[in-house]
Amino acid sequence: MELIDAHTHAFAPGQVEWRERLVASDATFREMYADPKARMVTCDGVVAAMDRSGFDAAVVAGFAFAAQRDIDELNEHILDGARMHAGRVIPLATVNPALDGWERAAEKALDGGARGFGELRPSSQGWDPLGPEGRRLCELARERGVTLLWHASEPVGHAYPGKHGGISPVELCRVAEAFPGLRMVGAHFGGGLPFYLQMPEVKEALACVAYDTAAWSLLYDDGSVRRLIELAGRDRVLLASDFPLQSPGRQLKRLEPVVEGEALEAVCGAAARRMYLDADE
Ligand SMILES: [Zn+2]
Repeated sequence: MELIDAHTHAFAPGQVEWRERLVASDATFREMYADPKARMVTCDGVVAAMDRSGFDAAVVAGFAFAAQRDIDELNEHILDGARMHAGRVIPLATVNPALDGWERAAEKALDGGARGFGELRPSSQGWDPLGPEGRRLCELARERGVTLLWHASEPVGHAYPGKHGGISPVELCRVAEAFPGLRMVGAHFGGGLPFYLQMPEVKEALACVAYDTAAWSLLYDDGSVRRLIELAGRDRVLLASDFPLQSPGRQLKRLEPVVEGEALEAVCGAAARRMYLDADE
């Protein structure tokens, strides 16, 4: 069974080393990484974690920095990491559509092998997923056959650093309605959006949207992934750790008692392969 962790984060070595500079200059980074206990790793760190947990590959996202220079440094590192660890790092590029000239950097990242963009935090960066920039990003992703990974958080429940700043479940649904055929992943159980898959028109609109389980243990109970599979279907649920926030091995151990057979195979890797690597379904 192929094991893919569908949501991890890496930073460039210089960003790990000089995190204090980023804490000072980037407000979203400060919210999530001012606490020295919030771990940062490079691509090598992600691959080492996959080795320890017996995973074949990981989708590696960056961070929604505000400044283009930080984004460029990060994209270069993740795309290099994908070349160095061929087949094991599925690279996502970071973009900030609120900046002038973002499209050039986004296209360059796609030319360099990025399989999509994420983890997207439109509200943190100050752009509207349904505004002109958001629409251009969706068009670009659809044209190039790549995937958008959105930070989608639950509108209820406890607070934590970085909870807000992503896309709301309502906005994610609207984007899906506006861009049929665009492959998207709503992180963190899509912030609860899958509940509405029980409405036929919503299910149809969300046909190309999948949901990852990033930070599962910090958010939802043991049976939640089983219920998510019931709502979304096994091909639309992606096992994810949010490493280095949580360990992929531990997430897999939590999943195995509640999901089995073909569903387990899909959720652990096949569904992620289809969402991020295969050009067409
Ligand atoms: Zn997230």
